[in-house]
Amino acid sequence: MTKGNKDLYGILGIKKGSSETEIKAAYRKLALKWHPDKHKGEKDAETKFKEINVAYEILSDKQKRQQYDTFGSAGPGGGSGFQGGGFPGGGGGGAGGFDFSGFSNGASGFADIFETFFGGGGGGGRSRGKKSSPMRGNDIEAAIKIGFEEAVFGCEKDLEITKPDVCEHCSGKGAEPGSSIVTCKACGGEGEIREARNTILGQMTTSRACDECYGEGKVPEKKCTKCHGTTRARVKERVKVKIPAGVDNGSTIRLSGKGEGGVNNGPSGDLYINLIVNTSKKFVRSGNDIHGEAEIHLVMAVMGGEVEIETIDGKENIKIPAGTEDGKVFKLSDKGVPKVSGSGRGDHLVKVKILIPKKLSKKEKDLYLQLAKEAGIDTKKGGLFW
Ligand SMILES: [Zn+2]
Ligand SMILES: [Zn+2]
Repeated sequence: MTKGNKDLYGILGIKKGSSETEIKAAYRKLALKWHPDKHKGEKDAETKFKEINVAYEILSDKQKRQQYDTFGSAGPGGGSGFQGGGFPGGGGGGAGGFDFSGFSNGASGFADIFETFFGGGGGGGRSRGKKSSPMRGNDIEAAIKIGFEEAVFGCEKDLEITKPDVCEHCSGKGAEPGSSIVTCKACGGEGEIREARNTILGQMTTSRACDECYGEGKVPEKKCTKCHGTTRARVKERVKVKIPAGVDNGSTIRLSGKGEGGVNNGPSGDLYINLIVNTSKKFVRSGNDIHGEAEIHLVMAVMGGEVEIETIDGKENIKIPAGTEDGKVFKLSDKGVPKVSGSGRGDHLVKVKILIPKKLSKKEKDLYLQLAKEAGIDTKKGGLFW
């Protein structure tokens, strides 16, 4: 660290003309030897490890290596070495120099790559490409329109849905029925495809499940003509939907296991059915309560009586007490909508609307005038209103 620029070849213990393979081999050996995990808390080892990585990073890259070979040891103001991110700038020729900033923050970044490369657990690309694990199918949504009464009392509906599911033609095998099963050509029966890619730590081999055989290593000689070997197809299904009494507009019914079929024998998703409930001409619903109206004659409001109203259960007579005012609400307990939870019902609420007679017979007119007189109302003064 004391004299001039580092000799990158020296760090890796190789000669200047070393081949790519030699560089890689030297690097691997040294990186393993100086890996921080083996030298916990040793500052020198960490520095050494960093130097090794930096040296390799440069020498394994054709362009950087050439740059280094040309300018590396001729940079002005040499001596800062690798510490502080300052590899000396390119000597005069505007070659730019190397950016070491990424390497000056400790070896953790390398450790990750290192793990991956040497297969130390987690990210190792060396595990055998095995069959994908079972996956639950997606949930699907559908909507059904139902009538007001159907929502109140419950009903049963048929629904046809089309969804991705296990192909029925091949029973999810991907093979045309009767076709024999042969070794997959794409992966040679391995079930996985290996791929090499270049990283700063050299070539890294990764493997993934084979697309042709989906990791099975075997493929049908003739693919299923319906799903083309994917084992999945769009399947039509008729579903009977039991709609419980008391549902409302916007209610959702879940049919467990009626969604998209699972993958690799995974469970099916669920089917969610959104209910759109038509409005009623007779009733207004609010939660589990029903709101209705009772029109009564003025005389009934004054004298009291009985009026027939309509509830969701049918016709019903309610008593109107004498002196009932316009807008008065009568409650018929438990005559509303059944609660979906299963216990009890809402109420039926009747709002009184007093009808003022507009056309009066001669006799009626006389009677009202008598009434006015009796009550001390001067109908002339206020202007005749009929
Ligand atoms: Zn294959
Ligand atoms: Zn099929």
